[in-house]
Amino acid sequence: MTTEPDVRFEDLGLAPELLSAVTELGYETPSAIQAGAIPPLLAGHDLIGQAQTGTGKTAAFAIPLLQRLDMKRKDVQAIVLTPTRELAMQVAAAVRAYGKQVGKYGVRVLPVYGGQPIHVQHKALRGTVHVVIGTPGRVTDHLKRGTLDLSGVHFFCLDEADEMLNMGFLEDVEWILDKAPAERQIALFSATMPGPIRRVAERHLNDPVDVRITQQTKTVEKIEQFSLRVSHHNKLEALERLLGVEDHEAVLIFVGTQRAAAGLAEHLQSRGFGADGIHGGMNQAQRDAVVKRLRGRRIQIVVGTDVAARGLDIDHIGLVVNYDLPRDPEVYVHRVGRTGRAGRTGRAISLWQPREQRQLRSIERFSGQPMEQMRIPGVEELLVRQRTRVLEKLQGSYADMPPEFVAWAKEIIEAGDFDAESLAAAALRLAWGDGPLNAPKGEDRPPDVADTGDLVEIVIPVGIRDRVKPGAIVAAIAGETGLPGRVVGRINMRERVTFVEVASSHVQTILDGLAGTKISGRTIRARLAHPEGDGHGGGGGGRPQRPRPHRKAGGPSGPRKYGPKGRAQRGPDTRGPSGPQRGHRRRGP
Ligand code: AMP
Repeated sequence: MTTEPDVRFEDLGLAPELLSAVTELGYETPSAIQAGAIPPLLAGHDLIGQAQTGTGKTAAFAIPLLQRLDMKRKDVQAIVLTPTRELAMQVAAAVRAYGKQVGKYGVRVLPVYGGQPIHVQHKALRGTVHVVIGTPGRVTDHLKRGTLDLSGVHFFCLDEADEMLNMGFLEDVEWILDKAPAERQIALFSATMPGPIRRVAERHLNDPVDVRITQQTKTVEKIEQFSLRVSHHNKLEALERLLGVEDHEAVLIFVGTQRAAAGLAEHLQSRGFGADGIHGGMNQAQRDAVVKRLRGRRIQIVVGTDVAARGLDIDHIGLVVNYDLPRDPEVYVHRVGRTGRAGRTGRAISLWQPREQRQLRSIERFSGQPMEQMRIPGVEELLVRQRTRVLEKLQGSYADMPPEFVAWAKEIIEAGDFDAESLAAAALRLAWGDGPLNAPKGEDRPPDVADTGDLVEIVIPVGIRDRVKPGAIVAAIAGETGLPGRVVGRINMRERVTFVEVASSHVQTILDGLAGTKISGRTIRARLAHPEGDGHGGGGGGRPQRPRPHRKAGGPSGPRKYGPKGRAQRGPDTRGPSGPQRGHRRRGP
């Protein structure tokens, strides 16, 4: 989002309930189009806004629209025309979100579009509706049928007018505007201003204010850019893996909101990364302190929002990660430009979810550079990287080796205490630190993770708030099924649930085995996370099996309970046939 650094929402004349809604949504400062469009719209002017999707244009018209509603009235007072039904629904959702605190009973927003039975919309229109968001075709239909009355409408917005032109809606748009009351305000938003749109503006708008968000392009050619497809729930894990394999002196991670910046920084700290957050909720001194720590190489990672990270001019940032994909392609260019400075090379990795594909494409179109697709680094890769680091550490240590150390080594070997191999192994182990050599460090997973073969994801109703360790889950699965820990893949813990990848060939055994088992006092009802087989779970290929009814409940010797740390505890009263039921009632540790 291109924001206006010196303008605050407080300066735009917003009603308290709208100001508080945007604050609650985590917006720090108004975007350029918001700063430019909100004041004239609130003052009642017509407006031409030239801005693309992702610039925050929805709030630019939705906020004035909401502020100018008379909530004592029950009729339609504002109409937004959009080219597609998707956009209509999206805008409707946004208007509801911004208007959450408006009026005693809330703002009634009705999207109307083709494809939905017209009588359903007709029925809704007979009730209280303050704002209609619709495609021009369907709005025209309603007007012709007399099911929509324009007489109370004082605000019209044409959203993505050039798209409406492309889709052949311009005639309908003009027809609707011709029916509008004389005393009305029109806001016209369009990414481009082709002739026909200009002519619509000239014909229907009254001395409009022009707000244009100019695109300042910037070259990002020197920066290697990658995209990484992730699903919502494995974003964190993907990020941790990335940070595990990428070697950079300094990394800048961008997120969408202040809360995300603080939360993610804290999470990374808990995982042993030297990370700090930087966002608009911090005062200048706090932000400066973070920058100083990064500059002084006391931390390696800064997680920031766009506004706060704007001034971050640090030459040694080697990697920019878009943890949240920016909506605005221009913002992308700004973010990515934080790396590759002072003639250095830089890398940028953008995480994106399947639903953000269009956004990704528009970024690529804007920057003129396709991103190279990458995959979530695998465990093997992570291991290789970590071993290489140990070797590099040893090499670095050898590079300026004082001769007395060499003499000492010789002495040890000659004395027969160690042969050269044993001495080297001991040194390697010391450099590697705790933990086995076949498990990547910092990964809450068993060694030999099932990286090959099909994986499916199951979901277990315990999570972070139950203070369960991933080890407890692996222990429960292995303990109840007798299968080796390597049938378990990635473990992704959320607040209340945990997603666990398991080998698809064993999924039924695992679901059966877990039935009635307790982990941290919670009886486990594991189930497939994606029973319809939407390809989740990393393995690819095989359609996940549907869980059958559990054949055995609790296993032959009754349910075991797994404490937060993964130790199996067997209570004497949980044995026997009544185990699972009783176990369900029992409270765990
Ligand atoms: P739009 O261009 O209206 O589709 O908005 C793009 C995205 O930016 C949406 O996800 C909005 O929630 C978000 N957004 C809008 N205004 C702001 C703002 N001032 N600060 C941060 N995010 C915003």
